[in-house]
Amino acid sequence: MRTSGDGVRRGGGDTEDKWPDCLRLGHELAAMGSDGAELRRRYREVLLGDGPSPAERPLRVLVLGAGIAGLCTAYVLRRAGHDVHLIEADPDRIGGRLAARTRSPFRDPLLHADAGGVSIPDSHALTLSLVDGLGLRRRPAVPAVVPTGYTAVDLLDAVLDAVGDYHEAETPDGRVVGWARLVHDLDGLSLGRFLTEWAGLDTAAVSAIGRLEHAGYRMSMSFVDFYLHHLHAGPRAARWEIEGGSWRLPYAFGPVLDDMVSLDRRVTRIEYYDPARPTAEYTRVAPGGPRVWVETLSSRGRREGFAADAAVVTLPFAALRQVRIEPSLPAAKRRAVMALRYEPVTTVQLEFDRRWWEFSEDEWQRELDALSPGLYDRYAQARTRRVTRSGATNRLASFPGGPVPGSDGGVVLASHARAGGAVRWEALSPDDRYARALRGLQEVYGDRVEAFYTGHGATGSWTTGEAVLAPGQLTAHHLAAVAPIGPLHFAGEHTSLKRSSIEGAIESGVRAALAVDDQHRLAPTREPVCGGAHR
Ligand SMILES: Cc1cc2nc3c(=O)[nH]c(=O)nc-3n(C[C@H](O)[C@H](O)[C@H](O)COP(=O)(O)OP(=O)(O)OC[C@H]3O[C@@H](n4cnc5c(N)ncnc54)[C@H](O)[C@@H]3O)c2cc1C
Repeated sequence: MRTSGDGVRRGGGDTEDKWPDCLRLGHELAAMGSDGAELRRRYREVLLGDGPSPAERPLRVLVLGAGIAGLCTAYVLRRAGHDVHLIEADPDRIGGRLAARTRSPFRDPLLHADAGGVSIPDSHALTLSLVDGLGLRRRPAVPAVVPTGYTAVDLLDAVLDAVGDYHEAETPDGRVVGWARLVHDLDGLSLGRFLTEWAGLDTAAVSAIGRLEHAGYRMSMSFVDFYLHHLHAGPRAARWEIEGGSWRLPYAFGPVLDDMVSLDRRVTRIEYYDPARPTAEYTRVAPGGPRVWVETLSSRGRREGFAADAAVVTLPFAALRQVRIEPSLPAAKRRAVMALRYEPVTTVQLEFDRRWWEFSEDEWQRELDALSPGLYDRYAQARTRRVTRSGATNRLASFPGGPVPGSDGGVVLASHARAGGAVRWEALSPDDRYARALRGLQEVYGDRVEAFYTGHGATGSWTTGEAVLAPGQLTAHHLAAVAPIGPLHFAGEHTSLKRSSIEGAIESGVRAALAVDDQHRLAPTREPVCGGAHR
């Protein structure tokens, strides 16, 4: 059943009420599409070019959370001359979900592995510019193995191509309205309902699509959220990886940010002055400043207070729900914070002492026979297991794009599971995870890969791995999630339309920095407020 947004009802009721929000979302979405070059250029200039012009009256700004979103916010504001202080709960490191394994768990100490974000789709131009601008080296990631013939990937592409008709208009205005209609018509649908009711697929086709990447667990979640992800980072997207690991990105800002970060400060309380509620009971903030006061708790139980003129909150909403905020946030914002669902993510990495994924057949023979003469033939004669059921395979295996200098081996991300899949992996001990992950690789690449497994692996779980939207939540909550409340601004991947990506986090950080800077220029504080964020 295809519905069309061409005739948006004007007679009252929900449909009409939703349209202004759909249009605002249309603007934001059009700016992320192919026509969004201007906004992207502006963000790139702000982040890597001259940045905003120097602030005449620097603001004291607290940035809560030193993930990549918070670091980008701090970087932009610092370069505009504001007095910025980053507050981070982790006692040892910055970077949030861009993280390295703390110590190499592998037999070869030269090898390393990312514990969080791994690769960057080619369409994520801001991230790639930042990587280049900060002097990091990158290389193409090994593309995912997409089976030949007409596959579920082709079927999904064909169905989603038809959705592209909504927003591929000639003019910028046409694209804004097209995106708005897409949101209007499709935001209420889950991926499963979209595939069956809108696209008219039968159960077998839906089930085949469900085996792709993470489509399975998203069947009951928002179709539009899935579509946006697919558009920029689907299975066919070319990808890049940062040499040495993505965890290097947060550290590449270098000394510019060093003196601004306070580690081991978990934010437990925020008080803010909201001009929209002048009569609320304020104890530590006032109209003349400070307008924000933040209390933190260290791992040793030490409490500290920080005051500022504005704050940018980049904590994942799951973490923000644990923070006491006074006065309480307006109802729409509270609902947006409470409603966002996070899915756990579990990764399993295995170390191999040879990079067999790069082997030609001749190299397989040479390397196996070097281990034991005739081994190549013995593997060839044994019945090789092949994938028959998707449930048996690892989710989203990926291989490093090149060698680590000085090492013949490499680390394979053997599984990257989310939601229920992650929970199933979490039920296993690390050793059982490695054994199962190896079996999963063997099912796809043959039993012989075991010959190069060193017996070492790494595994990690993130409870707030990925923010996902339920049907209807884009229109219900996105605008409220992003909106500033008085001196509080909000960033982090969950406030972007490129959710669960480094790009979304960076964009949100730049957007929030510009909003703080703009707000200050429009309404300068009464007193010059130079000097450190005081405790
Ligand atoms: C396993 C995994 C694989 C991924 N793979 C990719 C990928 O290949 N490509 C891609 O583009 N993206 C990937 N992502 C997503 C990407 O890593 C994230 O979208 C991005 O890093 C989020 O950045 P952020 O700054 O918004 O949030 P975060 O990195 O979560 O930063 C939030 C910060 O707030 C801190 N914090 C939390 N609570 C408090 C508190 N109370 N007080 C003070 N500080 C607090 C946290 O410690 C953290 O440092 C992956 C994520 C995971 C988990």
